[in-house]
Amino acid sequence: MGRYLGPVCRRCRREGMQLFLKGARCFMAKCPVQKGTNPPGMHGARRRKLSDYGTQLREKQRLRSMYGMQEEQFRVFFQKARKKRGETGVALLQRLELRLDTVVRRLGFATSQRAARQFVTHGHVTVNGRVVNIPSMQLRPGDVVQVRDRPSSRDLAKFQLERADEMSRGAPVSPWLKLDREGLRGEVLAVPSREEIAPVVNEQQVVELYSK
Ligand code: SF4
Repeated sequence: MGRYLGPVCRRCRREGMQLFLKGARCFMAKCPVQKGTNPPGMHGARRRKLSDYGTQLREKQRLRSMYGMQEEQFRVFFQKARKKRGETGVALLQRLELRLDTVVRRLGFATSQRAARQFVTHGHVTVNGRVVNIPSMQLRPGDVVQVRDRPSSRDLAKFQLERADEMSRGAPVSPWLKLDREGLRGEVLAVPSREEIAPVVNEQQVVELYSK
């Protein structure tokens, strides 16, 4: 599955908000959005009123960028969320949160979605005792994610955990996850509720966009 390889901060500048795509750097004064840099492009500084479609498109792009997904894969995620009972927008967010790379990030074994994806693809984690290198794998309540018992994996996870602590200033992990720091092990306790899901997006706009 392809992934975006262009300049990362450009995505935040386009959306006019911090999407926290670069880990620790996003919390430094160097962040272009914090510095108030204009959106990219020759006419980036121009203020334009967005149409309804434009607003929906921007919300979708924000969400997609936050989870580092390509359009095709994101659309498939949406179609699967649509088949779930309940609100489609919330089901979509839940599916995104229950991706293996997102769980790795939320546990603090990586400080950005990109780093989490790489952590998984490089085979540093096991799920329920088996090595898994598929970042989009859907986890369920009761699943256990463990850093592999080898020095390279453990050292990397410990380093990332320290950085994640600095970034979150010691805030606990999401309430739907349980982290065992010493054992470098995490467990999915429940499907997260909307209130427990971090992205500040209007998921209903995404549903309307794909329902056209
Ligand atoms: Fe770049 Fe992070 Fe700032 Fe986004 S939030 S512009 S990725 S430094």
